[in-house]
Amino acid sequence: MDAATQDMLKNLFETKLNSAMRLYLETCTHCGACVEACHVYNSMPEMRYSSVGRSEIIRKVFLKYFKLQGKIAPWLGETIELDDVTMDRFYDAAYSCTGCRRCMMYCPFGIDTQMIMGIAKLLLIGADKEPKLLTMLADMSIAKGEDAEASKAGFEEAIANIEPEVEALWKTAPGKKTIPLNVEGADILYVALSPKHSIIPAAAILNAADASWTLSSFEAVNFGAFMGDSKRMMAIAQRIIAEAERLKVKTVAIVECGTAYRVMKQQTGKHPFEVVAFVELIAKFLREGKIHTTKNIAEKLTYHDPCQVARNGGVYEDPRYVISQIASDFKEMTPNREMNWCCGGGGGLVAMGELEFRMKSSRVKADQVKASGAGRICTICENCQTQLTDLSEHYELGVQVDSLANLVAHALIQE
Ligand code: SF4
Ligand code: SF4
Repeated sequence: MDAATQDMLKNLFETKLNSAMRLYLETCTHCGACVEACHVYNSMPEMRYSSVGRSEIIRKVFLKYFKLQGKIAPWLGETIELDDVTMDRFYDAAYSCTGCRRCMMYCPFGIDTQMIMGIAKLLLIGADKEPKLLTMLADMSIAKGEDAEASKAGFEEAIANIEPEVEALWKTAPGKKTIPLNVEGADILYVALSPKHSIIPAAAILNAADASWTLSSFEAVNFGAFMGDSKRMMAIAQRIIAEAERLKVKTVAIVECGTAYRVMKQQTGKHPFEVVAFVELIAKFLREGKIHTTKNIAEKLTYHDPCQVARNGGVYEDPRYVISQIASDFKEMTPNREMNWCCGGGGGLVAMGELEFRMKSSRVKADQVKASGAGRICTICENCQTQLTDLSEHYELGVQVDSLANLVAHALIQE
């Protein structure tokens, strides 16, 4: 690595050094309380896969360039140089961490390893060493926002094609559109993912509730967030924010996608609309008697709390209430809620493929699912659903994995 690149990376590092980050980098006592908390370490017990092990690489670079000790006494061996080898170690640390923040629950100082990994991810972008697939996907999302007209006709045609599948789940009231598009003044903007299975059940539920809604032209997934690139993250989110403001909606309901929910809810500032996870809307419809369901799931069912919606988003009870309205044999996994084990697919790992690593690093999750004795598992995050399906196959768990919205759509009844 040449001196100019090293200086550029040092400058990038410095942009991340706000007071919270300095605190995280300066207060770790190496007590080790976070080590066992990480599903990756638990499944692959190497210190580089522990929370403190990952952060230590960043901390040593911080000591070298931003603390007096590293500048005057580098021979103490507690510092490392910013070079190509260090960048490879950054990649290994950052892209084996799902950003689940379970370790933070165990740290006496609340040190946020996901935030520290944000430094590694930013410097990897600076060094042009980030996962290129994520960059490509993020840039495609941004380009779509810059020229929405180009994809408009194709999008409208695709939506019209799936309307019969919505009707098969719930007959839309006469005079109403099955999947409303671009409706100014609608109460709810529903932001889905690209696959039709993220639209069909939600449309049926919204129609059953006789809600005033419209479907977003943009997909919720935010590859910029996976990359730790705040500029790309904001550009992707801004497409939806601008659309919600243009249509003057009161609520933006985010599809079952943990990262998309957390980005819109917590990381994009204040908005003139409220942001909810779609499950919160389902729970509201049920409580208010706007939709009715039958308990058509007799098999033992368990629930996976997605890290970004539960531990990091605070949504714990609404999914459980919804499940209580559709299933008669619910069994919690242990631990659950804020202590739940990450599925192992977050942080961009599912999008990047990484099947072998995802399976090896999530053995503890597979064990947890197996211990529940459930034949079915549902969740409210597409990433988690993919990862749990892969885990079920890899570890031969024999568990059927479902989206909670899909289960609800198939349990809808007329009162
Ligand atoms: S955020 Fe999750 S994956 Fe990353 S170190 Fe902490 S526990 Fe492990
Ligand atoms: S629990 Fe906190 S203080 Fe202890 S080693 Fe982990 S990050 Fe450091």
